[in-house]
Amino acid sequence: MGSRVNTVLTIPEPGKTVLVEKPYPNIKAGYVVIKTEIAPICLEGTRIWAEHDFEFHDDPEHLGHEGVGTVVEVVDGSNFSVGDRVIVFQGDHCGQCHACNNGLSPTYCDANDPDVVGPENAAMHGIERRNESASGGFAMATHRIAPEANLYKIPDELPFRYAAAANCSFGVGFSNQENMNVKAGDTALVGGIGFIAMGHVISALYRNAKVIALIRNPYRRQLLTDMGVVHFVNPDDPDWLAQVRALTYRGQGVDHAIDSSGVPYYQERLIDATRKYGNINFSGHTPGARLELHPLKHVIDPAHTLWGQHDVRARDRERLIRALCDPEVQRMVDVMVTHEFPMSRASEAFELQVSKQCGKIYLWTQQ
Ligand SMILES: [Zn+2]
Ligand SMILES: [Zn+2]
Repeated sequence: MGSRVNTVLTIPEPGKTVLVEKPYPNIKAGYVVIKTEIAPICLEGTRIWAEHDFEFHDDPEHLGHEGVGTVVEVVDGSNFSVGDRVIVFQGDHCGQCHACNNGLSPTYCDANDPDVVGPENAAMHGIERRNESASGGFAMATHRIAPEANLYKIPDELPFRYAAAANCSFGVGFSNQENMNVKAGDTALVGGIGFIAMGHVISALYRNAKVIALIRNPYRRQLLTDMGVVHFVNPDDPDWLAQVRALTYRGQGVDHAIDSSGVPYYQERLIDATRKYGNINFSGHTPGARLELHPLKHVIDPAHTLWGQHDVRARDRERLIRALCDPEVQRMVDVMVTHEFPMSRASEAFELQVSKQCGKIYLWTQQ
């Protein structure tokens, strides 16, 4: 077994990727080794490949958190078997914190919180430390370690490329909309169209809500058109608000406004367009961005509820996977996933993400 290795994607400097061979992962009770097939790209292109900007959970040699693959090694007593196809929901699992005890998103588990366990013990770095493994905590590698509690067995009829939409695209949109109770007949205004927004759009269409896109990027507007969105408003138009209101019941404003830009240009418009007692969802990831919020004017007077959540609540996993088995959802995921690359050509994939001429991009890690 000593000859086995784990081939890991690294970004040693901005604009450069190198595949590095590390020791094959080691596991302890509660964990399995997975041969990863697809590692969808989250912000590794724009944030890391382009800027070398890291968060507590990643560094140049530890990349990627989304993924699907096949179990290749278990320990005695495991609930999984070699050959099981699984979705990996990111991070570790403590089993006893507020998030774990309430079926919430593992991102909020104490085991993934650097303020609770320290950055070196948190999230995927913590997975490697707890397993005394020299590799395997991360998705952009041929092999990965994950806690059994954060795995979901993929139904036989669901191909990997649809299951891979269960993380930071359709999965995040779906779980946020379960939180907000987006339902048939509702209006959902989505602003700032990246892959999280596309996940929200697919989720809203699946729920038979009316989707209105506040959008400027022509490439991504075409993707939404191909998904089935028919209502588009250019946020630069002087009468953009009147256009949005005209699409809502009695002009009262949208039921749900979803920001995927992370910047005030869209956030301010989305708040203005939401009806009384409506929901505002923040799904954009822009570190350092600030929004001037007046609690009386923006929250109390309109009785708005503000929402936000990374990742997928554990309690939403079954309904999410059932949705991914729906042929119409799969058709829309096919539109959203505009490009697929072998991991050996990751630089091209990251460069494409920076260009914004793409939807969600998949890396096939065994190629
Ligand atoms: Zn992600
Ligand atoms: Zn926990």
